Amino acid sequence: MDGERAFLLDFDHTLFDTDRFFWVDVRAAFARFAIDAKVWEESYARVWPTGYSLEKHLDDLARAGQVEGSDVAAMERVLRESFADLRAYLFTDVEPFLKQVQAEKIPCFLLSFGDATWQTYKVNGARMADVFQEVFYTHREQGKVDVVEAFVGRFARLTVVDNDPRELDLIKARRPEVETFWITRVPGEAQDSSDPEIRERFREARNYASLPTRFPHHRCQTLDEVPL
Ligand SMILES: [Mg+2]
Repeated sequence: MDGERAFLLDFDHTLFDTDRFFWVDVRAAFARFAIDAKVWEESYARVWPTGYSLEKHLDDLARAGQVEGSDVAAMERVLRESFADLRAYLFTDVEPFLKQVQAEKIPCFLLSFGDATWQTYKVNGARMADVFQEVFYTHREQGKVDVVEAFVGRFARLTVVDNDPRELDLIKARRPEVETFWITRVPGEAQDSSDPEIRERFREARNYASLPTRFPHHRCQTLDEVPL
């Protein structure tokens, strides 16, 4: 047994405001160069399955003739400079929560879904890499349960915090003793808003907040509600 207790935390929409980062600010950075929103999204859809990066997205747009050759270097610079430091996209409760966890000497692991290169870019940009004992990236959707399973037996008490209840359901189904917190960062009034700007602001996170679940999970909106 490695210890009494450990946390396994998800990244996107749990620690990191991915919607504000990507769908608001990254989109706006590209829009500065007069790239049509629809063209930008179509390019995103093409690039995403190959393992996303801002550079790849820009290359794809340039290849499609959507960015003037003379603008490519300037765009690269804007993207690099605008998103060199992603700490501002961490939810405000993240730092205090992790400080407390560290003060209590509770091991904390990051369990993130997505392409490893793109996830690493965001995690490093948010200066989060050193905070965790170890960082896991699962490329397969709903593959977190396999990582969690390896922790059962190592720690007497395991707590998982995630915004995706499907991951939590699979964990609960296999390992009922794991504590599961379903975090929703979307304010209630934004959940069903028909305002296109608000919908875009919570574009991905909204979809998780109303999913049906097979198991009851602790519901929370902030990490302050997750007891140490
Ligand atoms: Mg997530």
